[in-house]
Amino acid sequence: MNTSKNTGQRGEEPIVLKDISELLDHALALEIEAVQRYAELADVMTAHNNREVAQLFRKFSGIEQLHVDQIRQMMNERNLEASSKIKYQWISPEGPESADPGDLHYLMSPHQALTLALINEQRAQDYYTNVAANTEDDEARRLARELSEEEKEHVALVQAWLDKLTKAGTDWDYDDDPPIVQD
Ligand code: ZN
Repeated sequence: MNTSKNTGQRGEEPIVLKDISELLDHALALEIEAVQRYAELADVMTAHNNREVAQLFRKFSGIEQLHVDQIRQMMNERNLEASSKIKYQWISPEGPESADPGDLHYLMSPHQALTLALINEQRAQDYYTNVAANTEDDEARRLARELSEEEKEHVALVQAWLDKLTKAGTDWDYDDDPPIVQD
C-alpha cells in the first residue's frame, strides 16, 4: 500500500495525532517500558559480571526516567490521565512475534543486550520522527521532534558501545558471526 504522506522511516504508516494528549499517552508507556527494561538489563549484566555495560544500562534507565517525569508533569499540567489503552512492549531481535521480550534472562551477552536496546531505541526514534513528520498540531509536533532528537542520541550511544565491543572482540560468550580463520 502506498501513501503520499511522509512516513518517516522504514515505510511505516504515517502516524497522525490529533493533539499532544495522544503523544503524551503513548510516550509515557514507551518511556516507562524503557526504564524497566534498562533496569532489568542492568541486573542481567551485573549477574554476568559485566560492570561496565551494567553501568551504561543503569544510566539509561535513569535518563528514560527523566523523560517519564517530564511527561507526567506535562500530563498533570493538562489534567490528563494515562489511558490503559496503550500497551507498549519492547520487541526482541526476532520481532514482536518471537519469544516473550519480558523474559530477558535468555540474554547472556552484552552484545545481545545492546542489540536489543538498539532495536528498541531505533523504534522509539522512528515513532517520534513519524509523529513529528505527520502531525499538524504544533505543540505535539514540537515535543515529538524533541523526543526524537533525544532518542537519536541514545541510538548513537548504544551503537557506539556495540561497535566498541565488536572491535575489542570481548564478546566472548556470543558469536552470531563467526570469524573466518585463514592460515
Ligand atoms: Zn531512549
